[in-house]
Order: sequence, then C-alpha cells, then structure tokens
Amino acid sequence: MPRESKAARRARAIEINARLTREYPHAACALVHNDAYQLLVATILSAQCTDKRVNLVTPRFFATWPTPADLAAADVDEIIEVIRSTGFFNHKAKSLKGMAVMVIEAYGGRVPAGLDDLVRLPGVGRKTANVILGNVFGVPGLAVDTHMLRLSNLLGLARGRDAVKVEHTLGKLLPPEEWTMFSHRIIEHGRKVCIARRPRCDECTINELCPSRKSTFT
Ligand code: SF4
Repeated sequence: MPRESKAARRARAIEINARLTREYPHAACALVHNDAYQLLVATILSAQCTDKRVNLVTPRFFATWPTPADLAAADVDEIIEVIRSTGFFNHKAKSLKGMAVMVIEAYGGRVPAGLDDLVRLPGVGRKTANVILGNVFGVPGLAVDTHMLRLSNLLGLARGRDAVKVEHTLGKLLPPEEWTMFSHRIIEHGRKVCIARRPRCDECTINELCPSRKSTFT
C-alpha cells in the first residue's frame, strides 16, 4: 500500500469524524455529573471500570461527600466502602481523598481549569484532565482511553500505545473544536461497532476509510 501523505491522512480523519458525527449525533460523556468536582470523581472511579457501574456508585458518593471539602475530611475506609464495587478501591480511595485535599489546599476548593494544574492532582492523568477540560470547562481536549488508542491504530490515524503521542498526533489531524466530541464518537463507535476482537466491519460507517477493515464484500 502506498504511504499516505499527511494531507491525505488529515482529509481522511476529517471525513471519519464527519461520518461519526452523523452516526452518533447524541454522543456525549456517559458519566453522570453536574460539575467539575463530580466529573473528576467519576472519571477517577472509571479506571478499569464501566461507566454504568460508576453511575451506580456516584449518587451515594455525592450524597455523602457533596463538595471537595467534605471529601477532604472523609475517612479513607468509608470511601472504600462506598466505591468498593468499582475495583482498585484502595488506590482510588487514596487518590480521591488526595485530590480533594489538594483542591482545597492549593486551589481554594475549586477544581482548576488548566491542564497543568489538573495533572498535579492525585489520580489525574492527561486523559482525565482532558475529560474535565472538554466536558466542563469548554476547553478542547482529546481524551485518549483504550478505545481511542485501539481505534486510532486500527484506522491508521496514529501509531503505538503511547497515549500522549497519540493525543498529539490526532491533535494535528483534527481542528481543536472537534477534539472533545471526536473522543466521545470514537468511544461510542468502539463500544457499539468496532468492538475489540469482534469488529462489525460490514456494518461500520467508516469501513471504506479504514485500512484494517475485515469484510465479506471487499
Ligand atoms: S472497518 Fe472494522 S476495524 Fe475499521 S473501524 Fe470499522 S469496525 Fe473497526
């Protein structure tokens, strides 16, 4: 296969995004939240856990600790009891409490709205920071999770397992105003159609644009 030029790859990425926009007009963050604090908690809980499970746990969590100040003063064992079903509960409980303490002590109780500040918080990496920036603060963010990594490679838009490199590569292919929603669309496509180990290529709206398609008609 001839090597694809940068311009051709950019055009393909834009067309992929356009088709996914039509396919998933209601794509959105699946984690239920009302503000930056709630989305931060939910995103930390979502590591190695389904969004559905997180959404079952967060109502009790937010009723028990409605603000960063409440969470900063919480007992770690109590946090563990509430979040146990999301897995990795020891680590998550420490991160959640540490995050809340830092939000109180370093940011006056308000979740910061910048990438550099967000990634300083315990339990917050670039993916989580981009989720918060894009979905709460209106700052474009490409949240590279496992679906984004897998599909970016399958689609030949980016290469490798390094999420930061993939984020930067995708960022050059798509305009910033599309970053947040592109993440949501790709994640929805990865859950519904391009499922790991059993992709439904024949039903895929972007199959003509995908170098990894496995099809009975091509
Ligand atoms: S054509 Fe197949 S491998 Fe490519 S994105 Fe669609 S479902 Fe995934």
